[in-house]
Amino acid sequence: LGYTPDENRYRRSHYRRCGASGLKLPALSLGLWYSFGDDFALDNQRSIICRAFDLGINHFDLADKYGRPDGSAEESFGRILRTELAAHRDELLISTKAGYPMWPGPYGGGASRKHLLAGLDQSLRRLGVDHVDVFYSHRPDPDTPIEETMLALSTAARQGKIRYPAISSYSPEGTRHAAQILHELGTPLLLHQPEYSMLNRGIERDLLDTVAELNIGCATFSPLAQGVLTGKYGDGVPDGSRAGQGRSLSLQKVGDETLARVRALRHVASRRGQSLAQLALSWALRDDRITSVIMGVSSVQQLDENFAAQKRAEFTDLELKEIDDCLSA
Ligand code: NDP
Repeated sequence: LGYTPDENRYRRSHYRRCGASGLKLPALSLGLWYSFGDDFALDNQRSIICRAFDLGINHFDLADKYGRPDGSAEESFGRILRTELAAHRDELLISTKAGYPMWPGPYGGGASRKHLLAGLDQSLRRLGVDHVDVFYSHRPDPDTPIEETMLALSTAARQGKIRYPAISSYSPEGTRHAAQILHELGTPLLLHQPEYSMLNRGIERDLLDTVAELNIGCATFSPLAQGVLTGKYGDGVPDGSRAGQGRSLSLQKVGDETLARVRALRHVASRRGQSLAQLALSWALRDDRITSVIMGVSSVQQLDENFAAQKRAEFTDLELKEIDDCLSA
């Protein structure tokens, strides 16, 4: 029997308005970088995506590069979209990105008009859709004038292949410039996607002020520092965990000091009646300049645990100080 979505799904998630746009994003979004694609069981991917949708998580974040091999996360999502969610396309916010190397030769990566527009067409084919809702320049490209990159995003919007242009991992100055160009082109910048977690607080310096000043949205990635902030690496590397797969996360690089800081956070989490993962997600949501926190999960169980965090995005000054103390110890 096919999948029937929970009819109460939109009563579960909180939604936040994305900058000055008319678009709302769920406070927690689902990212498909890891655990989605050909090297993971499709049934598990399907269960996670359907459960997310049942919880009102209607924003799915992808990129051309996601999954192994490249492109396979988009292909998996496209398959699940066709089989389970076809009737719900307009309830979904599908985002994808281009900018990392995808095919051989000088046009296979970067942020040129040539690469971005070809990359977008390939993503649409893999996803099996005629448009995506959000399309990102995945990272700034020093070899391409920003005017060319923004004009390519604007063209895609005018062609109806994307609903909103966006940028990821741009500096505050780059963000200002991108916003100004897209404004002049009549296709405003929707949002920025930077990394943000208790272990990577760089955007607190100035990017958060920049997005607030420009009145654009901010969807942050890797809120659990790829799993480190769940505390799962306190006693080594559990079987099947991301660090155990040796691709994007190395505990050697994380270091013992960081693992000790994470351990210290346990007291704050347990006083709040939360798991460490929940604490890290609630904390990332505490700032209303952040529209959505894009998490990854490898199971429905993790998704359910993490989802509860959105209800606890308020912190006392004392709790915030305790967290700062743990992180700077
Ligand atoms: P997280 O920091 O949320 O890490 C997710 C991983 O942590 C999971 O895959 C799982 O790994 C582990 N985990 C999650 N919840 C739990 C739990 N409750 N208990 C134990 N382990 C848990 O995010 P990601 O690094 O996956 O990034 C999220 C999304 O952000 C990506 O999917 C992508 O959409 C986006 N992103 C964007 C980038 C960009 O350049 N714009 C770059 C990177 C990410 P496991 O179980 O396998 O150990």
